[in-house]
Amino acid sequence: MIPKKLPDNLHRDTLAVRAAVDKSQYGENSEALYLTSSFVQPDAATAVRRFANEEEGYIYSRFTNPTVASMEQRLAAMEGTEACIGTASGMAAILLMCMGLLKSGDHVICSQSVFGSTIRLIGGEFGKFGVESTFVSQTDVGQWQAAVKPNTKLLFAETPTNPLTEVCDIRALADIAHAAGALLVVDNCFCSPALSQPVKLGADLIIHSGTKYLDGQGRVIAGAICGPKKLIDEKLMPVMRSAGMTLSPFNAWVVLKGLETLSIRMQAQSANALMLATWLEAQPGVARVYYPGLKSHPQHALAMQQQTLNGQGCGGAVVSFDLIGLDAETARKNAFHVIDSTEVCSITANLGDTKTTVTHPATTSHGRITEAQRQAAGIGQGLIRVAVGLEYIDDLKADLARGLDSFK
Ligand SMILES: *Cc1c(COP(=O)(O)O)cnc(C)c1O
Repeated sequence: MIPKKLPDNLHRDTLAVRAAVDKSQYGENSEALYLTSSFVQPDAATAVRRFANEEEGYIYSRFTNPTVASMEQRLAAMEGTEACIGTASGMAAILLMCMGLLKSGDHVICSQSVFGSTIRLIGGEFGKFGVESTFVSQTDVGQWQAAVKPNTKLLFAETPTNPLTEVCDIRALADIAHAAGALLVVDNCFCSPALSQPVKLGADLIIHSGTKYLDGQGRVIAGAICGPKKLIDEKLMPVMRSAGMTLSPFNAWVVLKGLETLSIRMQAQSANALMLATWLEAQPGVARVYYPGLKSHPQHALAMQQQTLNGQGCGGAVVSFDLIGLDAETARKNAFHVIDSTEVCSITANLGDTKTTVTHPATTSHGRITEAQRQAAGIGQGLIRVAVGLEYIDDLKADLARGLDSFK
């Protein structure tokens, strides 16, 4: 899919605006949206070559579309990978990755703190097909090492995690994976390529939920996998072609345009998040704040090394906090009070939006696991997650103070 010709060594911020497939004969400046299911072939013989993969060319939008290709080329350029494949959702990306890389009898090591649906997909659905899995601590490298078996094919991590923002050491996990002859896959949803390019730290494949910061305005569901061209062409493309977890061109176009402002949004939202986290730490009623940009965060030093924006350590835009002590029932009542007292924030589980969202993880995103599992994961009834957007910071503080002030 012919990329637009650009000079070498462009900065990621430039690639975010410029990398795409070549413009059409009409010379459009904003990339075109190609809403078409199929592509007309110039003649029967060309069709034969294209269907046999002997010649590049668009065939059918289940697996080739120029708008999707533009999004893929732009995201690959930003992640520093050779290639990218767009998918219908973040979960479709993980499904495609597992289908392409795993078979019955293989073993996966996965952080126990990853996205809940990822745990169910790898531990549950793929378990049905004979894929073994071990779930280990996000931050204890020793547990990852100890879980390695002769049939280990994949290590899967996400950093920082949702909602407690635990940070894993990507370089250390890549070393363990490679020594075992396995691949390290990193879900880079929370950082996005604006803050972290895990391939530079040794990761092999990057997963994205385009739904979050890449779109950035809460409009579409989308996903992607970034990685080496050979792996994507040989292992993932055939699955996409036959299984069809396809990214719609319209959604690809929305994400493509979202990528243009990713870096400045991440910068502004992360700055807001740091100010909010610092303020929350000083509020009566708040027992603990979880944010990698705070010195009190257990992996603060690692996070500041691994996540940078314009050369500075950056904590990202998600902040969680626990209300003080109390029994579970009172904690939940108080958390609901703080959430329901907001008048600006949206009470919704999405994140990565310019609109700040506030959620109660124990009864929503983590509501389907048992109370014992929740306690093991550190998700108490007094925990509130704020995915910080672009509103003016004093308005956000005032919005949370409405409920928190009752604890004065
Ligand atoms: C939301 C999310 C996903 C799933 O993405 P969808 O686009 O909703 O399918 C995967 N990983 C993380 C970390 C997420 O936050």
